[in-house]
Amino acid sequence: MPGTGDGENGVKVAAVVGRPVEHSLSPVIHNAAFETLGLDWRFFAVSVPAGRAGDAVAALRALGLAGLSVTMPHKGAVSALVDERTPVADALGAVNCLWWRAGTLVGDNTDGAGFVDALRAEEGVEPAGRRVVVFGGGGAARAVVSAVAGAGAGEVVVVNRTATRAEAAARLAGPVGRAGRPEEVDGADIVVNATSVGMDGGPPPLDTDRLGPGQLVVDLVYEPAATRLVVEARQRGAVAVNGLGMLVHQAAHAFRRWTGEDPPVGAMAAAARAELTRRAGPPSA
Ligand code: NAP
Repeated sequence: MPGTGDGENGVKVAAVVGRPVEHSLSPVIHNAAFETLGLDWRFFAVSVPAGRAGDAVAALRALGLAGLSVTMPHKGAVSALVDERTPVADALGAVNCLWWRAGTLVGDNTDGAGFVDALRAEEGVEPAGRRVVVFGGGGAARAVVSAVAGAGAGEVVVVNRTATRAEAAARLAGPVGRAGRPEEVDGADIVVNATSVGMDGGPPPLDTDRLGPGQLVVDLVYEPAATRLVVEARQRGAVAVNGLGMLVHQAAHAFRRWTGEDPPVGAMAAAARAELTRRAGPPSA
């Protein structure tokens, strides 16, 4: 039956839509997972221009795609085009994963769950009771703020260039959330860079001299693998990681939604790391 992703033609097809999408790691991650479990699925990246999210969702329905990942700039627009949204997608007003539940097209947002899963699985850090400072007020920051509060964080401070967006993001954390100042990284347990600052090799969005031992710093940027924030935080004694764990774990949630199978997270992460290493090229002599 077209439009329910039931794969009556044999192979099931899923895709990521966005623009730019050429450098998305999602095909590498999901195709590695399908191969590891021996599933007859294929995953593609499809470039869809801004303003054309409706065409992408119509294509998914018409072609009977089994699942869709959604990336910039479509996460907001797609949330209005599904039959149902999960509570988290509703709260965030953004969808990054579409899946079928008994013929109903459901929009979910797995970014925040991916962040928290990565903290727990990769760093052994439980957000409950922690003081978390999040830099950013865009889609990634909102997902992280909502998820760490949902996981029981003691306090969630949001710092952003545009104050109104910081306040809006902080409200997603309910009573433990508030907008704050960059100096409040002092004494934070977990510091998250959810801005796009630092992707270009430029300076971090915070004064790294304030960071030190006992803190976990997560830069959601993963390409380059070690931004200046990650390097400087480590030099000051903090544990610092990039956003690859979040990316892999949000994909793992999508994989579970689509296939009903337990995602092979180790194989997915290994494939993503190998692809990033390949792109970075041989180390200079
Ligand atoms: P977004 O919605 O466009 O938000 C961008 C954020 O960066 C906003 O808070 C913006 O501040 C801030 N910003 C941009 N330029 C700035 C500057 N020059 N100075 C200070 N702040 C600046 O983007 P997003 O989707 O949230 O993504 C943010 C970052 O997270 C990106 O690097 C993205 O690649 C990464 N990300 C990673 C994952 C993962 O799985 N690891 C998932 C999603 C996103 P204003 O509000 O003031 O404009």
